[in-house]
Amino acid sequence: MKSIYLSWFNFILTMKVAVVGIGVAGAYLMNQLNDHHDVHVVGYERMEEKTHDAVCAWATCENVMKDYAKKCGLDFENYVLHDGKKMTVDIGSGFESDKSMDINLKGMISYDKLKLIQDMIKGTNINYNKVPEKKTLEQDFDLIIDSTGFHRHYLPKLKDELWIPCIQYKVKYDSSIPFDDFYLKAFPSLSGYFWYFPLGNGYAHIGSGDFRRKHTNDFLESFLKKYNCTIIKKVGRPVRITPPSKCIPFSDGKKTIGVGESIGTVYPLLGEGIIPSTICADIFIKNMYSLSNYYIEVLNYFKIYTLVYNFIKMKISNKFSILKNFVDLIKIYTHMKTQENRYGMEIKMLNMLKLTKI
Ligand SMILES: Cc1cc2nc3c(=O)[nH]c(=O)nc-3n(C[C@H](O)[C@H](O)[C@H](O)COP(=O)(O)OP(=O)(O)OC[C@H]3O[C@@H](n4cnc5c(N)ncnc54)[C@H](O)[C@@H]3O)c2cc1C
Repeated sequence: MKSIYLSWFNFILTMKVAVVGIGVAGAYLMNQLNDHHDVHVVGYERMEEKTHDAVCAWATCENVMKDYAKKCGLDFENYVLHDGKKMTVDIGSGFESDKSMDINLKGMISYDKLKLIQDMIKGTNINYNKVPEKKTLEQDFDLIIDSTGFHRHYLPKLKDELWIPCIQYKVKYDSSIPFDDFYLKAFPSLSGYFWYFPLGNGYAHIGSGDFRRKHTNDFLESFLKKYNCTIIKKVGRPVRITPPSKCIPFSDGKKTIGVGESIGTVYPLLGEGIIPSTICADIFIKNMYSLSNYYIEVLNYFKIYTLVYNFIKMKISNKFSILKNFVDLIKIYTHMKTQENRYGMEIKMLNMLKLTKI
């Protein structure tokens, strides 16, 4: 691996870098590379500038994102739309059952993800409405970053993939809102969940992701019927939950390297990709002159994701055994418990057992 990368970087004075895909990872990369003395960076985004969107429910943890925003010279507080206090999680069967639990939140918020992306890329050179040919990129650039998220457009296709199809609506409630804070409805066998994430001023993202596709439509339709609202936008996109260890290669062996969801930086238990993809972009910036170190650091940092992914896979296929897999469950619990500030919520063993229906 080392020899490939050494040939890229030897004797290059100003490295020409293309960042393809301007989501959270791509925007962070553009911001950081634009200030780099030895780099000339150009961005490409397939959406038009006017309709550039950040397809996502926009929930994250302020404790972590504020530091990455600060690195880009921005104050994260300006982007917060709703400051969460508690998340209600319905774990019963049926539409809105009486079996729910409350999780105390410690920094989980919803924020204007698109505005933060737009401010991160201010003053950088981005070509919108453009899906560049790989050949052209290879001729014009020394390094091509695939930050195309789920698409992984410029990297070898993966064989054994797990992704969750999602549908989401942005809605506006004019009179009464269904919930005044975060709400989740867990589907059986951890195959996915329905979410209601407030965005302030009566706006919300409501959506559903289900590996089996079974619950998504039924649940969303019932919810939309029950709580009268104006639909502003409907989007559909899968989220990759295959972890980085199973998204190898991160590179095509030539000039292209993946950063963000294109190489599986999504926490599989939550489908949470904003923070992991930003962290991945930051790891890339630190290691851009030693891409073998980039591989090592990514695999090391996201090691726990493989364990969580295996756990989800076993739950979905009903192969999970509390006796055989108890140690794994404890490891996942300990990981999250010791990082409550990172996940933005209070982690309790009892809640975890209830949520995972063990
Ligand atoms: C419905 C849904 C809700 C979600 N909600 C949350 C949430 O609330 N919190 C959270 O943390 N995570 C959430 N996620 C996951 C999170 O959105 C992603 O994991 C994260 O945005 C990945 O960041 P990224 O920059 O790697 O890719 P993306 O944010 O997906 O960005 C990829 C960009 O590349 C562009 N692109 C794609 N192909 C090409 C191409 N060939 N050429 C040029 N441009 C291209 C796309 O238009 C896009 O702008 C959600 C995912 C989905 C699907």
